[in-house]
Amino acid sequence: MEVRIGASVLALWEGDITKFPADAIGNAANSALAGGGGVDGAIHRAGGPSIMRELDLILARTGGCPTGSAVLTSAGKLPARFVLHAVGPVYRDGRQGEPELLASCYRTCLRLAEENGAKTVSFPSISTGVYGYPMEEAAEVAIRTVADHLRRPECKIERVTLVVFGAAALEIYERRFRDLVIS
Ligand code: ADP
Repeated sequence: MEVRIGASVLALWEGDITKFPADAIGNAANSALAGGGGVDGAIHRAGGPSIMRELDLILARTGGCPTGSAVLTSAGKLPARFVLHAVGPVYRDGRQGEPELLASCYRTCLRLAEENGAKTVSFPSISTGVYGYPMEEAAEVAIRTVADHLRRPECKIERVTLVVFGAAALEIYERRFRDLVIS
């Protein structure tokens, strides 16, 4: 499923994000940039150890990455040039600034992608695994935030693909996609 927004395309895809070629691949990281399970584990396994070496240097320089922000590394053996390591919020009750922090992840990644000349970007559904963000709400934030960015006349990104894992997540994203950007 995809839709044209401004001069760009927003698309939905179901599957393993490490198999999906893009200039920049988003990752759901943690503020210690320490590596973990879920999509982060899959990205490090597929990309190889060079990604963690770069993160260690960033960690030594900055002390970590705050929630709502992101850092960029190269992509090792992944079919990409860059990985955008975003630190999503842990979901509590939705009233602790979670939507704004999640939106800020997507915005920071898109800005970093543009600054580094990436034209195509893929994102996993940040925070919806161990961080517990309800899929429905996370889908709305992801779709709205990316669509808002693509609508800006100065946007340099040509295609963003939201890559979700599993049929249940795809169904939720498709429904929000239809409501928010197709109709
Ligand atoms: P977080 O800590 O931000 O919640 P997780 O990695 O636990 O991050 O989960 C984020 C989302 O990524 C979940 O919806 C999970 O199903 C999905 N996911 C896990 N592995 C992959 C993968 N290889 N490709 C795409 N999405 C994945």
